[in-house]
Amino acid sequence: MSLSSKEKYKIFKPKKFLGQNFLTDENISRKIVASLDIKSSDKVIEIGPGYGALTKFLVNSKCDFIAIEIDRSIAGKLRDKYNGISIIEKDFLDVSLKDLAGNKKIKIVGNIPYNITSQILFKFFDDRDVIKMAVVMMQKEVAQRLVATKGTKNYGILSLNAQIYSDIKKLFTVPPTAFFPKPAVDSMVLSFSFLRKVDFIKNHSLFREFLRAAFSQRRKTLRNSLKSFFENYQTNVNSLSTDLSRRSESLAIDEIIDLYNEILSSSHIPNP
Ligand code: SAH
Repeated sequence: MSLSSKEKYKIFKPKKFLGQNFLTDENISRKIVASLDIKSSDKVIEIGPGYGALTKFLVNSKCDFIAIEIDRSIAGKLRDKYNGISIIEKDFLDVSLKDLAGNKKIKIVGNIPYNITSQILFKFFDDRDVIKMAVVMMQKEVAQRLVATKGTKNYGILSLNAQIYSDIKKLFTVPPTAFFPKPAVDSMVLSFSFLRKVDFIKNHSLFREFLRAAFSQRRKTLRNSLKSFFENYQTNVNSLSTDLSRRSESLAIDEIIDLYNEILSSSHIPNP
């Protein structure tokens, strides 16, 4: 079965609700896989292999390789094509990365379904301890939110989480013409490294709650957006050194972390 021509993809009726936009440009596939710098001792997980645009190059790399594909008919075709390939037929969001990793940190790659990009990214942030790096292609707009800095319209919860929990590099932009069917938007490939220690934040779930409160309406003042948070945790607001009349979008990442740590020591937080 040759899947190189765009005509053949048409036969398989791409499923829009599963974010199926198949990469048809082999040079881009090659570049994505090369940026993972795979060693034969690596364990590599691919999210949504589809008909194998990236898989083709991944299986050649001799690493320990596992693909996770939600669409059973596609998984079957991929099995026929690559003898002995490991495919987990599940929703990536339901797969335990800790179990997959075992005692070895994993590398993750994927031209991921754009409709669940944020959930996939938050899964990376949650499970960062077992991930060495990830190289993923996503909608360019989301990539711009990930790398946004304070005061810009793209700066928000996603930028903060991404930049606190990982080191991000923008690799390259991919035009709609590289896919079948063509998506309506430009795409971008990014690499995330998870080697940094995030021990300057205590109680990560509370930190996420804090960010959600502070940034759900970025143009409100901190005093207003954090009102219920302060009430819930009986924060001694007068002891905080940050000017609470500022808007959250104006705070740099370091300032956000300082504010959080100050709040933590001026509040009554139940034991997690
Ligand atoms: N990597 C392939 C396919 C990209 S399209 C290529 O570049 O050509 C996105 C793929 O993700 C599809 O195969 C789709 O079926 C799969 N997918 C969608 N939602 C998924 C989920 N929740 N978990 C795992 N795979 C998913």
